Amino acid sequence: MRIDVVTIFPEYLEPLNVSLVGKARAAGRLDVRVHDLRGWAHDRHNTVDDTPYGGGPGMVMMTGPWGEALDDVLADGYETGAARPALVVPTPSGRPFTQALAVELAASPWLIFAPARYEGIDTRVTAEYATRLPVHEVSIGDYVLAGGEAAVLVITEAVARLLPGVLGNAQSHADDSFAPGPMADLLEGPVYTKPPQWRGRGIPDVLLSGHHGKIARWRRDEALRRTTAHRPDLIRRADPAAFDKKDREM
Ligand code: SAM
Repeated sequence: MRIDVVTIFPEYLEPLNVSLVGKARAAGRLDVRVHDLRGWAHDRHNTVDDTPYGGGPGMVMMTGPWGEALDDVLADGYETGAARPALVVPTPSGRPFTQALAVELAASPWLIFAPARYEGIDTRVTAEYATRLPVHEVSIGDYVLAGGEAAVLVITEAVARLLPGVLGNAQSHADDSFAPGPMADLLEGPVYTKPPQWRGRGIPDVLLSGHHGKIARWRRDEALRRTTAHRPDLIRRADPAAFDKKDREM
């Protein structure tokens, strides 16, 4: 997968060099390119924002630098053989970011991120690119950050771990909270590792039983219990057919 990020704070994206995403890059599974939007500014102050039409506080990022930057990134990608780009615009007014959306984005071979600052990007930019490529306006939660770079880090990490070969054990994300399949719409339950005793706290016997069927059932029960306690909304909107007789007795 190719990822381009256009930002006024390229250094904010440095965490993309470490851990899982950094390793995926080193292994050639992810090609990440970070671009400084100010490189497309035209005055000596490298201005990329202006006052909002209609008045009000704050500044709005201008169409000019964004349009030129996105055109150049697209041209560069096409020249190097990249195909099927999708534009991801982090914004609190976007579609909530979920595991399902991470799966959808992971199927795209090329993502271009446009994280904003100030009061956001002039709306005509997304309208313009929506005529040429899929545009995803995405919110990472019901709160307001100072800029979209943290959202880019969140989305990139969630997407990267779904790419083939990025996680050592492909089963890991199949078992995650929210993963499609038997645990769909459930949170993952508690996990334990060695030692078997710690400060007087043991681990559930079933986990030592070696009985795979019983362990799977215990994990599902715990997932149901935790989801009911922390996220009853997920239980309410789950497909009733996803629950078996034992689930309903929980
Ligand atoms: N005035 C805007 C509003 O109320 O929707 C908020 C602008 S915010 C200060 C600046 C930028 O941070 C946004 O344009 C977006 O790129 C990013 N941002 C802030 N909160 C976000 C969130 N919850 N999800 C995704 N991006 C966010």
